[in-house]
Amino acid sequence: MAVNVPRVWAEIDLAALEHNLRAIRARIGPAVELILVVKADAYGHGAVAIARRAAALGVIAFGVGTVEEALELGAAGIRGRMIVLGTIVDEEAEPALRGGVELGVHSADRVRMLSALAVKLGLTARVHLNVDTGMGRLGSGPARALELLEEIHASPGLELAGSMTHVASSRGADDPGTAAQLRSFDQYLGPARERGLLRGWTHVANSACIFTGLEPRFDAVRPGIAALGMLPAEMGVIPAGGGRLEALRPVLSLRSQVVFFKDVEPGTPIGYGGTWRATRRSRIATLPVGYNDGVPWRLGNRGRALIRGCEVPIVGRVSMDYTTIDITDAPGADVGDVVTLIGRDGERELSASCLADEAGTIPYEITCSIGRRVPRMIVEGDARPFAGRSASSADQDPSNADRSGAAAESTVAPGATP
Ligand SMILES: *Cc1c(COP(=O)(O)O)cnc(C)c1O
Repeated sequence: MAVNVPRVWAEIDLAALEHNLRAIRARIGPAVELILVVKADAYGHGAVAIARRAAALGVIAFGVGTVEEALELGAAGIRGRMIVLGTIVDEEAEPALRGGVELGVHSADRVRMLSALAVKLGLTARVHLNVDTGMGRLGSGPARALELLEEIHASPGLELAGSMTHVASSRGADDPGTAAQLRSFDQYLGPARERGLLRGWTHVANSACIFTGLEPRFDAVRPGIAALGMLPAEMGVIPAGGGRLEALRPVLSLRSQVVFFKDVEPGTPIGYGGTWRATRRSRIATLPVGYNDGVPWRLGNRGRALIRGCEVPIVGRVSMDYTTIDITDAPGADVGDVVTLIGRDGERELSASCLADEAGTIPYEITCSIGRRVPRMIVEGDARPFAGRSASSADQDPSNADRSGAAAESTVAPGATP
């Protein structure tokens, strides 16, 4: 009998998102605005579903990477301020202004170009002045930023919507460099305030800053990864009870199924390059999931997977479409069994952060590498969209794939909004 379980899918737990948004709100207090960063398709989670639930919970501003990302959210019916946090290339300017997308600015060239275009189109360009205090990527140093600030105020068609800086250390307030960045930001903020030129929101903190208690909090914060239930790798994995990680719940799980297994004799090579050889009679299962689906190539011969509540090793190289695991020690494992690459199965959990450590990368890259062909399935809490062949699967309905809208609407008491 055919089982309607995809080759691979990502479960996106919106109840976990809600929990994390509340955890962030608890950290920042009621008076600080929240700009939820959903760039790069919400780090691979699916920006529309994430932003829609967040908006339903009272989030009124979203940080994106490109103008197209902002317009996609608008087209999906998500209302809220859309802010391109970094910069744009020239061809994005007109669609941005027409779509009311707010833009980070970092140079006089940009200020002039946006002003001229806004005047020509009869529109207003809302901009966030990016002050470089040590990130070194975009933005002008404090002195130059003050000049730009004057220029923005003097430019027709431009409105200052905010002032921002970005912290370079993924250890947030725990890194002395962050305090130095804030002192540098003050060299801009102080005179700007004195001259009465500050408008809109002043915003600094990303997830690391929020969860290390960076002060001051300014008007708004810009969390991304924490809302998705992870923290930057360098913050370390704080054991349960330690307070930080346990407060957040991972939003994403990545699952696949066994399509085939065979028993091999000792000495049998597995995968490209024969980098793994059986040292005993082994049962090797093949999963239709590879590095295009978010299983890092570097996890070849070192990663783990969960099947029937057991943790088993990835053996051989991970290939583009397939991964092989050794299920010798997972009694009863069979074709059609659901296999967890990221997430929980029973008592066990493989977190994106641990995978990242193992693969020598960061959790951001793990979830961003989950390719387009992996359907994102919306779930609420522990509900599983697919049980696989090992459980009753006859009446599982896979039709909620990407149907983020219907599932995402929720009602939350006013005052409880993140
Ligand atoms: C991506 C980004 C953020 C969010 O960072 P997290 O570490 O995911 O919280 C905040 N601000 C800017 C400018 C960014 O580019």
